[in-house]
Formats: sequence, structure tokens, C-alpha cells
Amino acid sequence: MFDDLRDLYQEVIFDHNRNPRNFRVMENADRKVEGFNPLCGDRLTLFLKMEGNEIVDASFQGSGCAISTASVSLMTEIVKGKTGAQAEKLFKQFHEMTTGKEEDVNLEAIGKLAVLAGVREYPARVKCATLAWHTLDAALKNEEDSISTE
Ligand code: ZN
Repeated sequence: MFDDLRDLYQEVIFDHNRNPRNFRVMENADRKVEGFNPLCGDRLTLFLKMEGNEIVDASFQGSGCAISTASVSLMTEIVKGKTGAQAEKLFKQFHEMTTGKEEDVNLEAIGKLAVLAGVREYPARVKCATLAWHTLDAALKNEEDSISTE
């Protein structure tokens, strides 16, 4: 990865960590799921407002490291207006980007989430980046009210 691009990605992560988007309690949420990454201590509560199969609003509360906060902040922005199936597809692509081989990653498909591609080089941080998505996955499946990455 070019150094300029890496700097830009880091700037986006810092920005979302300093000023998280959609950081609020949603009073009328249809789905509320807690996520926990014991490896790092990241905790979040994800709120979703659904209309049929569409995610019309997403927000979160919690505290975690810069990577986990930036990841959930970016995710709540990106999944708004998407259907559950579209969000699940993004999750799959995000998971491939953070754990798979570099050449298999379609950075165009993943858009803004590409700023987190660098965590692939730090296996201990992958769970920080994917916690938000595992929590979203549980919320969409509506199976559990809390999940842990362990
Ligand atoms: Zn973390």
C-alpha cells in the first residue's frame, strides 16, 4: 500500500474515533444487541431501526479502542438504507478484506470500509475491526441479545 494512502486511511480512522458518527441511544430501536471483544475490552451496543428488511437507522453506544470505534462508526453510516441481505454481503466482503489474501479483496465494492484494510497486518486487531459486524450479523438474525468474539 502506498504511504500516502496509508496516511489518508489513518486520518479517517482517527476522525471517526474522535468524532464517532451515530453515537447515541436509539429509543425506538427494533433491534438492540451488545457486542464484546474480551481480547481488547471493546464493548458496544448496536441499535437498528428496521422497515421490513431495510435498515432505516443504525446507532451505537459503548467504549473501545480506536479501531473498534472507527469500525462501528463507519458501519452505522454505511448500512443505513441497505437491506439486511446487502449488509450481510458487506460483512462478508469486510471479513475477507481483514482476514483474506490481499489479491482477493475488491476495494471498490467495499468503498469507505477500505480504510480498515490495514488491520490485516495486525491479527490481534482484526477482532476489534470485525466486532461491529459480528454484532450487526446477530442483530439482523435477531438470534441473540449479546455476542462475544471469543
Ligand atoms: Zn480493540
